Amino acid sequence: MTEITRTSARRPERPQFRATRLPALGLLAAIALLHGCSRSAGVAPGVRLDTPTDADEVGLVRLAERPAAGSSDDADAAAKTEAPTGGYDLVLTGGRVIDPDSGLDATRDVAIEDGHIAAISPEPLVGRETLDVSGLVVAPGFIDLHSHSPTPLGQHYQLLDGVTTALELEAGAYPVEQFATDLQGRALLHHGTSVGYGSIRLEVKSGIRRPHILSEPMEPLGLRGYWTAARSLFTTPNEVFVERSTPAERDRLRARLHDGLDQGGLGIGLPLDYFSEAIDDAELEMVFEVAAERRVPLFIHVRRGVNGDPAGLREVLTLARRTGASIHICHIQHNAMRNTALFLAEIRAARAEGVDVTTELLPYNAGSAPISSAVFARDWRTIFDIDYGDVEWAATGERFDENTWNEYRARFPEGQVIHHYVDEQWTRTALREPGVLVVSDLLPMVAPDRKVAPHNGAFSRVLGRYVREKGVLSLSEALGRMTILPARRLESAFPVFRRKGRVQVGADADLTVFDPETIRDRASYQDPFQGSDGIAHVVVGGQIVVRDGTRVPGAFPGRSLVTLASPGPAR
Ligand SMILES: [Zn+2]
Repeated sequence: MTEITRTSARRPERPQFRATRLPALGLLAAIALLHGCSRSAGVAPGVRLDTPTDADEVGLVRLAERPAAGSSDDADAAAKTEAPTGGYDLVLTGGRVIDPDSGLDATRDVAIEDGHIAAISPEPLVGRETLDVSGLVVAPGFIDLHSHSPTPLGQHYQLLDGVTTALELEAGAYPVEQFATDLQGRALLHHGTSVGYGSIRLEVKSGIRRPHILSEPMEPLGLRGYWTAARSLFTTPNEVFVERSTPAERDRLRARLHDGLDQGGLGIGLPLDYFSEAIDDAELEMVFEVAAERRVPLFIHVRRGVNGDPAGLREVLTLARRTGASIHICHIQHNAMRNTALFLAEIRAARAEGVDVTTELLPYNAGSAPISSAVFARDWRTIFDIDYGDVEWAATGERFDENTWNEYRARFPEGQVIHHYVDEQWTRTALREPGVLVVSDLLPMVAPDRKVAPHNGAFSRVLGRYVREKGVLSLSEALGRMTILPARRLESAFPVFRRKGRVQVGADADLTVFDPETIRDRASYQDPFQGSDGIAHVVVGGQIVVRDGTRVPGAFPGRSLVTLASPGPAR
């Protein structure tokens, strides 16, 4: 999460539980703060800042080499189940199939039956429905591990960016079964969530139930909850963000973590930097122990230092070494800033030691926040290492100077600004690093009049701008970062992902068909509500949901992957 804007606070018709504004505001401030900066960073002993080593034993980052000519025929021999009479449900004919997991990159027909890929063949296959995709690439559907927008609008625009599975793994939710309930029966994409540590901490520290950052209204639980609600009439209770936990509270936090995993949570979401003052070593160790015991990954927004200070990264790597927990570091260059290469080198070194650690990037060089955000009440120019001219007013695109900045902060506190603090070279360094996953970090899209940072174009942006135009990475490498690698990140704990992220017989028929010559993102900070160019067709669970670049009305094949996920090993 970089920044969130909220609409609900102002919705007069529903009796608001005043507390609704509490954590939301605290969360807003904390979120904006998180993307501050730090200055001090020495090189850790034994770490080389040069090209990737071949010590990546974990295999989470390795993509198959493109097989030599003809060898894939052997694969095809087996890549066929008997065609049902009358043909398969659907056949995509004549496309360039790219399957980063197997290395297949060749013209093939792909047949779908009962929501699964039933056959892949150089020979023509017969289907009751046929889609001619010659001249286009047929890839596994894009899997986004970092999306905060399980909303109809968010799903709509992510679909138009080729995403077939969008997961809320950084913030998560608790109780897990209350996540994205308003998507039931109308989900375009597969969706799911991790167990949200922030929501758990809010319950234990403040007695307030708020399953997800989008959930409204909040529910006071017991006396503690009503006391928090009463206090919020006069002040802003924020113990959840600043108060340490007692041993008894840690037991209750641990119990809720197990409960969330029993409900099918896809690992644990730990936006640690939002609770940096509150979460001490004992509490953090407890969270890592639960993740290690249940063998599920931890998705972490590490504590942020000033412009690249690696202390936050080293803290979680040390705990992962000690507990054996699997960890995933969120939005690497937005946290590492000028030390992106150092962060990547330390992650690579840890992986070479056998630590199960992965990371991700979002292909954007700016953050966005309401001008009244707490971070702008601090020394934000030092934190972000930028000046007034690096910030623009979202509604008009105009850049600030000190006078206009102070004037707008006073007159339009809810107005959205965009601060350009990430250097393009940091983003490219992360893109060049093998195994760094591509994500969107899309903030909640709740209504067309509420602008959010245009991260709904993230996947097309990588394929258009960084593969085709800039040649920073190859097409199959980039596709691997948004399909098989996110699937592998989850499949050891959640078998449902063994059928995701692949164009192989038996895999789920989640497919994205695009034109590599025209694909590009169109969403912009001025107008984020735009679909990407070049995404021709999207198939979710065997159903065509986008045809010729346009949504197919009435198609809602998206499934909750939480319900399909068998909880990790029993306690
Ligand atoms: Zn974050």
